Amino acid sequence: MFVYADNAATTSVSKTALEAMLPYLTEDYGNPSSLYAFGQRSAEALARAREDVAACLNADPKEIYFTSGGSEADNQAIISAARNGAKKGKKHLISTKFEHHAVLHTLKRLEKEGFEVTLVDVHEDGVVRVEDIEAAIRPDTALVTVMFANNEIGTVQPITEIGALCREKKIPFHTDAVQAAGHMPIDVKAMNIDMLSISGHKFHAPKGVGALYARKGVLISNLIDGGAQERGKRAGTENVAGIVAMAAALKESVAHMEENTAKIIPMRDKLFAELSKIPHSKINGSLEHHVPGTVNMCFEGIEGESLLLMLDDQGICASSGSACTSGSLDPSHVLLAIGLPHEVAHGSLRLSIGEYNTMEQIDHIIKVVPQVVEYLRNMSPVWDELQKGERPHLI
Ligand SMILES: *Cc1c(COP(=O)(O)O)cnc(C)c1O
Repeated sequence: MFVYADNAATTSVSKTALEAMLPYLTEDYGNPSSLYAFGQRSAEALARAREDVAACLNADPKEIYFTSGGSEADNQAIISAARNGAKKGKKHLISTKFEHHAVLHTLKRLEKEGFEVTLVDVHEDGVVRVEDIEAAIRPDTALVTVMFANNEIGTVQPITEIGALCREKKIPFHTDAVQAAGHMPIDVKAMNIDMLSISGHKFHAPKGVGALYARKGVLISNLIDGGAQERGKRAGTENVAGIVAMAAALKESVAHMEENTAKIIPMRDKLFAELSKIPHSKINGSLEHHVPGTVNMCFEGIEGESLLLMLDDQGICASSGSACTSGSLDPSHVLLAIGLPHEVAHGSLRLSIGEYNTMEQIDHIIKVVPQVVEYLRNMSPVWDELQKGERPHLI
């Protein structure tokens, strides 16, 4: 059996999204900047896509900038706010320790360029506290950026409250909503969001397309200079087909959100319930504030990487954290940020379930994971020491 359980890394393109994009790869291939009617057909498709994406977020179409994905949207939001702040002598940026690397590495670069960055702690439940953000605010703070939902542990942050705080303090607020868009309701107005990033391939659109929402009045600066596309804020001929697919996929995900969630939750809960029966295992992140499909657990005495390879042999695609960190020997910065010791964080497993998964697939995972954990523990010198009482159990 083949089980794709890594929907937080990427998703398949939905039939709706594929059908929506195909005409713009074949018959309607005009450049949207061309003046003739053939090009204008593409321009109209772009305009419709912008309206649809805006409607899904309760934004205005003029507030949507298409990008090459979530990483670019995060970079553009943060760099724009930093440049705006610097003009007023404000060079302090606030974020959290468990952001995606698209945020953390952008902040690192800005730090090297003379900005000061405060990374607020994340509590053990995987949720950032508004009070901690408030305590970090200084007169020279130019931006607060806090992710909507974490990509490794699935915890959802108090975005509306952080947004209200930032509004009160007149500080721009950005959220990386890549894991939330299409999976949870988003309302940029009600949630007090100034800038927000989304990525198509996390909700059944193709890879390489995303969007940045920037509230009217929030000044965005270019990362890419050239033509006047995206109202002069993002040069380069638009990825028309990708953008059309993203809009179709987002619309579809939002329209079916309730039924998708109702399908995913029982699968996720069964995974948690059954995998928790494995001795010395631990669920990471509070289930109270959570995206529907993400399951993150640690199993003591094993290496996450070995677990993944053996699951792969059994047809199961899973992750030990973010795709960006796999291949490195460091444990996930997210799991360390919620206070897990290195030894425990090493034995992590992320399963991310989508509406295309089935209960039969969940049953396959539930059958295979305990066997693999047991097999790896039997070969593990660390597990041996734990069993003999030569080192203390941490979970
Ligand atoms: C996937 C992801 C990104 C990066 O999006 P790309 O479109 O792959 O560049 C950024 N932030 C989060 C939380 C993600 O899950």
